[in-house]
Amino acid sequence: MRTGLSEDLIARVLGAAPKYTLAELEEKFPPRNLPDGAMVTRFAPSPTGYMHLGGLYSGLIDYKLARQSGGKFLLRIEDTDTKREVKEAVDLIINSLQRFGIKNDNDDLYGPYYQSKRKDIYHSVAAELLRNGHAYPCFLTQEEMDNIRENQKAAGFATGIYGEFARDRDISAEEIIKRLDNGEVPTIRLYSTGDPTKRIIFKDTVRGSISVPENNEDIVLIKSTDRLPTYHFAHLCDDHFMRVTHVVRGEEYFGTVALHIQMFRMMGWQLPNYIHTATLDKIDEETGTQRKLSKRKDPENNVDFFLAGGWPTDAVIEYLGNILAPGYEEAKLKGAVKTFWEYELKPKKIPMSGGLFDMKKLEWWAKEYIGSMAVPDLVKSVTDWANEYGDEKQKMQVADTDYLIAVLAIERDNPKRVRKDFITWKQTLEIVEFFWDELFVANTEYEYNRDVLKAFLETFNIADDKDTWWDKIVAVAEKFGVKNGDVAMNLRVALSGRTNTPDLYSIMQVIGADRVIKRIENML
Ligand code: GLU
Repeated sequence: MRTGLSEDLIARVLGAAPKYTLAELEEKFPPRNLPDGAMVTRFAPSPTGYMHLGGLYSGLIDYKLARQSGGKFLLRIEDTDTKREVKEAVDLIINSLQRFGIKNDNDDLYGPYYQSKRKDIYHSVAAELLRNGHAYPCFLTQEEMDNIRENQKAAGFATGIYGEFARDRDISAEEIIKRLDNGEVPTIRLYSTGDPTKRIIFKDTVRGSISVPENNEDIVLIKSTDRLPTYHFAHLCDDHFMRVTHVVRGEEYFGTVALHIQMFRMMGWQLPNYIHTATLDKIDEETGTQRKLSKRKDPENNVDFFLAGGWPTDAVIEYLGNILAPGYEEAKLKGAVKTFWEYELKPKKIPMSGGLFDMKKLEWWAKEYIGSMAVPDLVKSVTDWANEYGDEKQKMQVADTDYLIAVLAIERDNPKRVRKDFITWKQTLEIVEFFWDELFVANTEYEYNRDVLKAFLETFNIADDKDTWWDKIVAVAEKFGVKNGDVAMNLRVALSGRTNTPDLYSIMQVIGADRVIKRIENML
């Protein structure tokens, strides 16, 4: 510890006198009144105008833990590094989360939730550290730091501002005043007393008990450029005063956790529980090896891919949930729970190494999900998607709701044997295109048995019930000495253009007598 700065100097190095004392901050952001075991989590994206799947994965952990424990899920915008306009990027994050069913519990009491608006809080905490000698103003220029770095490298030392290399760590009040008078603006650095030959032991909820070397770097707390905090310092202040209990973040932060623990201890604040999660990986199509999802190579890395592509967002969540809680699928198949929201996510069981995201597996979840939907919900989802993302064709398909209901209701009356060929809203509309004359493409390749088609048409009556209809098909088959299935196949291809469709009788009922007659006649 060094000698603390006077209030006067604190105000000068920070640019203004701090607004609050620590006691005032403690009172302003009181411990939350929540039931025992309630977790307060936060998703803390830096807005980039892009919401990636890993972000959704991480946000899902936060949200699920908060929700299942009767806690709070906060959305904090880490915008201290962003030079550009963040409003649009933030809207995109909020909107994407909401579409996947994730809503935040931000309340005014613990806000604001934009870091750029929390300067008073950071400065008040920094002032306290300056006051008690745990921090100091540092006037090193970029050029001076570059030099230090070069020298450290040449001599084989670890790089960074620490110990003897931290020129200003014992700077005197006179020197500070001189430099301030000279117009220099300092960064505020931590006065680290850590010793990297010693280790800190802490418990990571996912990784268990871990020991990491102590931190000896005098890291920057407040930047000189805009007087905003670094990630490290903001994490300390925000997670403390937002009363966050569980910090879920990527494994890339594991390397600086010693520093974070050091700061919490220095403040005498309770350490949050850390959950350092692994990245979301995939199997590379070309090499067959597991790797991180890549912004450049993988369209599925952007959550917009799932929205624009008409993937059921609930199915994406179900699948991500199963990656997080691998027992979920089994519990669901057994009927013990219906959705991931009902299943308990055990923080300890979150995968420690890369969770694997596989589009083929997602297809399974999507098929299951759509298969279990009631027709009106399916129709609504498909319609909403088409109206927002669809092309003219798809918009036309959803324009007549009654017809769409009839089309999508086929083979959904028996819950035990629901068709499982729908994967996305988009592909659903593609599969059923032949129901619309504008989109129907006659199959002219197929070798039709014209006699069979003609004979069927002569007996066809749309009012026939299914048995009568089938008897007529059997009769035609007998007459021409072909299989019943051959007759059905001729009709199927003539009416749909395809050799594979759901129930043929239902198709005829839905498209109606006129289309049946017209399409068969055209083939003749
Ligand atoms: N803004 C940081 C990020 O986007 C947040 C990390 C954290 O959750 O603490 O990676």
